[in-house]
Amino acid sequence: MSDAPLAPGSTIGILGGGQLGRMLALAAARLGLRCHVFEPAADCPAAHVCARHTAASYDDSAALEAFAAGVDVITYEFENIPVPALDALEAMRPIRPNRRALAISQDRLEEKRFLQGLGLTVAPFAPVEDASSLKAALARIAPPAILKTRRLGYDGKGQARIMAANEAGTALAALAGAPAILEGFVDFTCEISVIAARGTGGEVACFDPGENRHEGGILRHTTVPAAIPATVQTDAVLLAGRILNALDYVGVMGVELFVTAQGLLVNEIAPRVHNSGHWTQSGCAVDQFEQHIRAIAGWPLGDGRRHTDVEMENLIGDDVTRVPQIARESGASLHLYGKAEARPGRKMGHVNRVRARTP
Ligand code: AMP
Repeated sequence: MSDAPLAPGSTIGILGGGQLGRMLALAAARLGLRCHVFEPAADCPAAHVCARHTAASYDDSAALEAFAAGVDVITYEFENIPVPALDALEAMRPIRPNRRALAISQDRLEEKRFLQGLGLTVAPFAPVEDASSLKAALARIAPPAILKTRRLGYDGKGQARIMAANEAGTALAALAGAPAILEGFVDFTCEISVIAARGTGGEVACFDPGENRHEGGILRHTTVPAAIPATVQTDAVLLAGRILNALDYVGVMGVELFVTAQGLLVNEIAPRVHNSGHWTQSGCAVDQFEQHIRAIAGWPLGDGRRHTDVEMENLIGDDVTRVPQIARESGASLHLYGKAEARPGRKMGHVNRVRARTP
């Protein structure tokens, strides 16, 4: 594929069939682009709204090849795609965002080193492989601290808190021998995230930072504007731009930050559209999903300026029982993901509540 913009009627391949894939496909459809989703699960949120669905495993090379042959560009909605599958796909079609962004975000240790290398501040950290390296790490990073698996962690999974040194053994056992990092506990005033986009020509556009509140390790609310000074807002946006430029990134990225008295710390980056960017569906002319599609399709980035204040609430598990009431609320826009079963901790949908814009 050249850098020429994808023509309407072209097909975007999406790896992963969850709600992020679903909302990407809806945005693509509005722009006259088709989507083909690759997702092992037969009935998945994205398949309900995509032109095509390949329900095959990531080690099915014939299915991967047929998928790549039928699309113009490949993107993804989750980070943990097996490397051999990516190798096979990349030999046939461009993958956007690129492999480096994916490799860095798949491994918390690589991610921290990369961010530090850019001169950005991260929580104190040390690699942990076993009891002796954990002991050495705790000598440098005093509790409270968090032990996190290097790979495959999400929504607070693969993490164990260490409040005192004598909890080290229990924390290590909880991670079942997975390579990990120890992170010093950050005393933050709030958590924010920047949803940033970069196009094929290198142009960068960021949405306003949103303020995030988690419950039980899962995002619960994002509020815009975030209750932070304008200077911190500017710092956050500039910092995100530096990360995207350093990676020669194309697409949308979620950059999660801790706001502290000493300044901003980067918690983690996600090389994809992000739950904390769902507010953009109601707050901006062009939302994060369309912005991502525009970027990977080589189109100009859209206008992501915020025109209203928004509070996004995730509907998790049993929260869906409130849907009949929410559907009657004025100023509330409801997004449901088409998941049949409401298990605890499962993201079933979200609601964006709008208010007139404050300055
Ligand atoms: P993560 O999966 O790394 O994004 O962590 C999930 C949530 O745990 C974050 O959004 C924070 O609320 C909290 N958390 C993670 N790491 C730290 C840290 N080093 N210090 C304080 N809180 C943290």
